[in-house]
Amino acid sequence: MSAILSSMTEGIIGVNDKREVVLMNQAASIILRIAEGDALGKNISDILPVYKDKRELKEDSPILVALSEKTIVRTYLSDNITTFDGSKLEVPLVLSATYLFGASSIEGMSLLVMFRNITEERSVDRAKTEFVSLAAHQLRTPLTSINWYTEMLLSGDAGDLSSSQKEFITEISGSSLRMTSLVDSLLNVSRIDLGTFKIEPAPTDFVKVAESLVFELTPTIVKKNLHLTKNFAQNIPLISADPTLVRLIMQNLLTNAIKYTAENGQIEFSLTPKDTMLEIKVKDNGYGIPASSQGKIFSKMYRADNVQTMDVDGNGLGLYVVKSVVEETGGNIRFESAENQGTTFFVNLPLKGMEPRSGVKGLS
Ligand code: ADP
Repeated sequence: MSAILSSMTEGIIGVNDKREVVLMNQAASIILRIAEGDALGKNISDILPVYKDKRELKEDSPILVALSEKTIVRTYLSDNITTFDGSKLEVPLVLSATYLFGASSIEGMSLLVMFRNITEERSVDRAKTEFVSLAAHQLRTPLTSINWYTEMLLSGDAGDLSSSQKEFITEISGSSLRMTSLVDSLLNVSRIDLGTFKIEPAPTDFVKVAESLVFELTPTIVKKNLHLTKNFAQNIPLISADPTLVRLIMQNLLTNAIKYTAENGQIEFSLTPKDTMLEIKVKDNGYGIPASSQGKIFSKMYRADNVQTMDVDGNGLGLYVVKSVVEETGGNIRFESAENQGTTFFVNLPLKGMEPRSGVKGLS
């Protein structure tokens, strides 16, 4: 057993019911820079503290959850899990914690924690994101020029167009605008993944942002004959939030409700202070999200099965961006949905506002 454990490249730590370390292999000792002798008998949360997005997990640490719920908990590269080793250096990890039924004969061990240092995977992932960012950036310039010239042609700057010329150029213009929106979304995603987007809070009137958005989207709402109800509370204070980000959140939720609701449908857009948070609610009675897709809709480039076959534009990046922005600014997001009945998104942002963060660029 000891030969197997010491030959493994994954770190392995055994923990008993009292959360004490009862076993540690050589790889764990190397990754955590702690000698086995110094770890034995110590609390696992002191030896392997788990951080997610820089916040230390306490009772919600995957290790303690696996122990208390007698189950298996795994983390993935995208979970952004790190620990601090014995020299207080940050180490990115993926880990799995497995509850052991009936294995208490091994030093009273009830849980096996296996983990791997993923510094290398992280840097490959970062290089890939940087490449996407660079490529998206390069694509923007020619797209701007295509958009500019198609607009000039359509407004007759190069003389009158025949009806079929107009039809073709309108097609080119539509496709180019869709591509521009994809490139912008890719830039947003890469800025989020690289952690380089800035947050610039300023006293923001959420109702004003919401009203201007509704005004801007009115032509599409009218075109689909949708009925929009606005429920904006009267007593919303000015909130110290980044107006661009607030707009981005509302815009994504509202355009989704418009896109994924059939003609003559109903949409409700509400802003309501609740305790320490402001709730942004967008409810529709549209296509809904099938139960099988509900766990994945915040993933990058994921689109639910029911909308993939429809002729509805989308790239599956909007909700990933919204969730990241909401969570990075101290809020949370959830939804309720039933297929063919409708969907309601709830975003809660703290009334106390957002913390500023310097960064290379804002999101667009
Ligand atoms: P997309 O560009 O495809 O709209 P999003 O990231 O905004 O990308 O949304 C991801 C997926 O979630 C959509 O493709 C759709 O399947 C589903 N979705 C989001 N909002 C709604 C909604 N209001 N009603 C039904 N499905 C929705």
